Amino acid sequence: MITTYFRPKTLDEALNLLTDTTKQLKPLGGGTRISREQAGEFGVVDLQDTGLDQVTSRGQRLAAGAAVRLEDLLDHPDVHPEIKRAIQIDISENLRNMATLGGWLMSSDGRSVLTTVLLALDTTLTWEPGQTRVRMGNWLPVRTEEPPGVLLTELEWWLRPHLVFEYVARSPKDRPILVVAAAQWGSGRTRIAMGGYGESTIIAMDGPEDSGVDVASRDAYCDADDQWATALYRREVASKLALRCLDRIDAIKESEA
Ligand SMILES: Cc1cc2nc3c(=O)[nH]c(=O)nc-3n(C[C@H](O)[C@H](O)[C@H](O)COP(=O)(O)OP(=O)(O)OC[C@H]3O[C@@H](n4cnc5c(N)ncnc54)[C@H](O)[C@@H]3O)c2cc1C
Repeated sequence: MITTYFRPKTLDEALNLLTDTTKQLKPLGGGTRISREQAGEFGVVDLQDTGLDQVTSRGQRLAAGAAVRLEDLLDHPDVHPEIKRAIQIDISENLRNMATLGGWLMSSDGRSVLTTVLLALDTTLTWEPGQTRVRMGNWLPVRTEEPPGVLLTELEWWLRPHLVFEYVARSPKDRPILVVAAAQWGSGRTRIAMGGYGESTIIAMDGPEDSGVDVASRDAYCDADDQWATALYRREVASKLALRCLDRIDAIKESEA
């Protein structure tokens, strides 16, 4: 339960509060999740006035502050249409107006389409204090054990790769039981991320070309068995979705030629 509330005006003020070990404070993004936490008493540091809500193009990459609202990403011209589609699948309009990108990433599980897509784009996270930069693929598997800092400030992803995703859910409004996202760079580098299962999305493949995506996607979910789908089902469908993603990327490339 939230018992104390701080609303700092700068990032430095926020960091001073969050690193004060006598206070036991947590970052507050949109508050949609943290305001429902009942276990224990804690204080929060509201990020809304700290300037972490900007989206900026940096050459071949796009940087988004951790406190940018998901709805604002939908309005931004440089945000890839597939990222916008992922947000619309994952989260309702009401929540999008409150929830932040950082809060989403911190609390999303393996069934998030948005997290899968950002993983495919090899997103880099910046943490404070110390401006520690960590690739999302290295952070996700250990995120609860080894946080690189007290505050996630920025996410930065590649603008140029071709990006598509395919997913399966039991109904259009259900959470996905399988997501395959593919990003392909001009060099041919192809990265496949998968979601729809477990605590965290995973990288199925990251290679200099796209051969073997079907086998890699099938193998990545060899144990992905839960109450929503069997591992056998996920394995077979994952390989087909991966090939479908490549077909879509090929079609986009042809249309651009
Ligand atoms: C009614 C309802 C329905 C929902 N349905 C779904 C659903 O279908 N699927 C789904 O995946 N989720 C769902 N959620 C969860 C919710 O959408 C996400 O948890 C939300 O995106 C969290 O974002 P936030 O900005 O509100 O985070 P907050 O609630 O503010 O914070 C969440 C956590 O992240 C931490 N945090 C926030 N910002 C930072 C930062 N910059 N650095 C470090 N830590 C940070 C907080 O300390 C807290 O521990 C639902 C929530 C509600 C209330």
